[in-house]
Amino acid sequence: MTSSALTPDDDPRPHATDSVLSVTVRVPAKVNLALSVGPLRPDGYHGLATVFHAVGLFDEVTAAESDTLSLTCEGEGATEVPLDATNLAWRAAALLAETTGRRPGARLHLAKGIPVAGGMAGGSADAAGALVACDALWGTGLSRDELHALAARLGSDVPFALYGGTAMGTGRGEQIAPVLARGEFHWIFAFAHDGLSTPAVFRELDRLRDAAGEQTPAPGVDEELLRALRAGDSRLLGAALRNDLTRPATSLRPDLRATLRTGRDAGAVGTLLSGSGPTCAFLAADVVSATAIAAALEAAPSVRAVRRALGPAAGAHVL
Ligand code: ATP
Repeated sequence: MTSSALTPDDDPRPHATDSVLSVTVRVPAKVNLALSVGPLRPDGYHGLATVFHAVGLFDEVTAAESDTLSLTCEGEGATEVPLDATNLAWRAAALLAETTGRRPGARLHLAKGIPVAGGMAGGSADAAGALVACDALWGTGLSRDELHALAARLGSDVPFALYGGTAMGTGRGEQIAPVLARGEFHWIFAFAHDGLSTPAVFRELDRLRDAAGEQTPAPGVDEELLRALRAGDSRLLGAALRNDLTRPATSLRPDLRATLRTGRDAGAVGTLLSGSGPTCAFLAADVVSATAIAAALEAAPSVRAVRRALGPAAGAHVL
């Protein structure tokens, strides 16, 4: 297929290669540094308070000129990705076309580096990437706010993928406010052998809470986490990481406990289930420690693959 990797990194305009106009957008994965889940609401959603953190694991979404919509996919977990109108990238292109009153013509291609059904919002990243790529390809010129509104219609995690960095998410996660974060954090990600369904993890959370007769408090983010981010202190941050979905995810998949223990024993200053899992995230104090943690996880039977990444990473941007 036409490659757009030959274009200057900083040129935001669509470009012609072999006479086919195409735009490639790079978009990051996210990890939730805090994920506080409120009670189930009457509309079927849970209120959330979360701190999103974009990390340097990326998908690339290319949109090339075409009369019709089509989709291909390669890379991490590509065989698991639907290639029809149920794909979030496809839905994003169709929604942008419908909103701007143009025909939805684009050949979409996804190069995946984000694990599928891994709790790192890969599908949401692709949706954000497709919005930005098609907006540039078609010259529809939507503002950030207009793109945000479309992103929120596609899914709770889609708006954050537009912005990247570190941000507070409230509502269903779609209301975003930037959070001050200093410095760079060293992350190690352990991919599991099988994916985990996000709705199943939320259902298990409700089941466990009902069974325990717990009163669920309103969602909120601890001040220590925000202080650790402002200070750029990985040890403080590691101690402040929280995810309410850890208990239901490890209840459904007990093997994840072994993964979390392996990283902790290898010196991680923080261990975390990424979103609804099953990817586990480990925060290292420095690059030397990150190497040791990655090596220990590589040898763990519960782990399929290990990736290292820095955070925070930039949001969806044209290459
Ligand atoms: P989240 O963290 O937002 O809950 P996730 O990272 O756990 O999401 P995704 O990779 O987004 O999970 O995939 C969840 C499901 O969505 C997949 O099993 C797949 O069937 C479907 N899907 C739709 N579009 C995409 C896409 N572009 N990439 C990956 N999966 C997609």
